[in-house]
Amino acid sequence: MSSKDAPPPLPEPLGVSVADSHTHLDMQEGTVEEALTKAAAVGVTTVVQVGCDVKGSRWAAETAAAYDAVHAAVALHPNEAPRIVLGDPDGWSRQGAREPGGDAALDEALAEIDALAALPHVRGVGETGLDYFRTGPEGMAAQERSFRAHIEIAKRHGKALVIHDREAHDDVLRVLREEGAPERTVFHCYSGDAEMAKVCAEAGYFMSFAGNVTFKNAQPLRDALAVAPAELVLVETDAPFLTPAPYRGRPNAPYLIPVTLRAMAEVKGMDEDALATAVAANTARAFDY
Ligand SMILES: [Zn+2]
Ligand SMILES: [Zn+2]
Repeated sequence: MSSKDAPPPLPEPLGVSVADSHTHLDMQEGTVEEALTKAAAVGVTTVVQVGCDVKGSRWAAETAAAYDAVHAAVALHPNEAPRIVLGDPDGWSRQGAREPGGDAALDEALAEIDALAALPHVRGVGETGLDYFRTGPEGMAAQERSFRAHIEIAKRHGKALVIHDREAHDDVLRVLREEGAPERTVFHCYSGDAEMAKVCAEAGYFMSFAGNVTFKNAQPLRDALAVAPAELVLVETDAPFLTPAPYRGRPNAPYLIPVTLRAMAEVKGMDEDALATAVAANTARAFDY
């Protein structure tokens, strides 16, 4: 392993413990115990494990039941729903090539998510939403239908809604308005600008910032964070993706939350402990744990 692929070193521990509000332990190297131990050593004492398909959502629910430090969110990812309906002949999804299943297959998968959402260790429904970056026009109808179904599931079970919004800001906000957002809604890997942050704040949506807020070209994201009310801000890794600077390109994991949180404190002109205190309370409120 060259140092370019090696896991980054442990950062200085946080003075106040926080949660990683969005991670994918099932896509990371090593065991769950190893990830949780390393994270806890630097003050990241809770993680929200997010499922992206039926299998991953089952795993998230089981893992949350097995570990006090883990809460689960369950869903069909916005890029998963079109694959279920239209098939995936190239097999680039994690399960390999797939036959088209049509709307009936989507309904079947949604029924499984619905059942998982009822479980006590499942605190969120998501990640769901819209992704116009990876899914083309042919998949948009399936994606929106799935998004609307997830909103309904979250509301019926009283769970947080976890939004994935990639290059689809206006339509995500529109669908939320049309359906009526659940009481607790989290924009994971928040990617809107400062104007949108004001809209989210007005609606009471939580905004969860990931490692990309540290990227050099991410000034619009930092401008959004600057105007986001401190009582609506969360932090996440979305690991194994979006490793914060200066470790971009190396494997991400929950123990790197302090790197992102410190960068966020600077943007907000807040003391690190004060921001961590707010973020810890916000995450517990968002996911009702
Ligand atoms: Zn996402
Ligand atoms: Zn994710």
